[in-house]
Amino acid sequence: MGRNSVAKPTILVTGGAGYIGSHAVLALQKAGYDVLVLDNLVYGHRDLVDRVLRVELIVGDTNDRALLDQLFATRPIAAVMHFAAYAYVGESVTDPGKYYRNNVVGTLTLLEAMVAAGVKYFVFSSTCATYGVPKWIPLTEDHPQEPINPYGASKLMVERVLADFDRAHDLKSVCFRYFNAAGADPTGLLGEDHNPETHLIPLVLDTALGRQEAISILGTDYSTPDGTCIRDYIHVTDLAQAHILGLEYLLQGGESQQLNLGNGQGFSVKEVIDSARHVTGLEIKAVERDRRLGDPPVLVGSSDRARQLLGWQPQYPNLPEIIAHAWQWHQKRHKLP
Ligand code: UDP
Repeated sequence: MGRNSVAKPTILVTGGAGYIGSHAVLALQKAGYDVLVLDNLVYGHRDLVDRVLRVELIVGDTNDRALLDQLFATRPIAAVMHFAAYAYVGESVTDPGKYYRNNVVGTLTLLEAMVAAGVKYFVFSSTCATYGVPKWIPLTEDHPQEPINPYGASKLMVERVLADFDRAHDLKSVCFRYFNAAGADPTGLLGEDHNPETHLIPLVLDTALGRQEAISILGTDYSTPDGTCIRDYIHVTDLAQAHILGLEYLLQGGESQQLNLGNGQGFSVKEVIDSARHVTGLEIKAVERDRRLGDPPVLVGSSDRARQLLGWQPQYPNLPEIIAHAWQWHQKRHKLP
């Protein structure tokens, strides 16, 4: 930063060692912010923060109020980007307490610590899973929010808490409701690495790499043109950029908002697999299986509000490009010796 430039504030990024959080840290660094990562490393990756991003990592939990108080008291934190959450829909059904404790109670603890410290700006990872089963497509932000699993419910509860904290404490927030985050940093620095992996694109690429025998197509009898589910895949770097715009909107005095982040275009499971075959040049064996419980046939969002309010414009809207970036990362991260 030049001698005459004004230092930008420090941003606390919870979950900065995870998939979307790490891409947001990179975007913050590129925008000139100082970043502090708080991550409990249950699902996050230390190497991404220490060796790739080279930012300070505090290993800890959002449920640890004493740690939060100490961080807010000793660092010039101007705003929080909150990615730390558990996000396995199936596990949220079998172990809801884990989800409500981490995603709801942990976030509440964080928000109370922010209020106590006078930190007023919050960018939140919400999800299209807060809508439940779509009554219309594309989903707009005014669609009823009736989540059908504890994961979606936990995120909706936080949205409600944030509305109340705005009224009571003037804490301003942007809730981003993501559709299907996909792809990887275009330069190959970062990408997706879940364990266990449940998402379609990385599992298709695992199959391409020979890490699994075949990709399962989970349901071929949906009311869609080819019978498989349609989703709205949005590049993780475009998601990260939206967070920078959301943060700056708040820092400039914007009112609290809830905004969808998607591509506005849907692709079926079979289209994703075909695109991955094309991108990788590999066969990628697929087998047809039964539906997975709780999967709506089509999830596609309208992000007009984010585009208009923030001037957000996805840079990587094409599915083959999203898959190509994921493939570049996947080979680097997982190629067997
Ligand atoms: N899917 C699939 N096979 C898999 C994993 C996912 O056919 O091994 C389907 C899943 O049923 C859904 C779509 O791919 O229709 C996207 O699933 P993912 O888990 O990536 O994201 P979700 O939409 O559940 O958030």
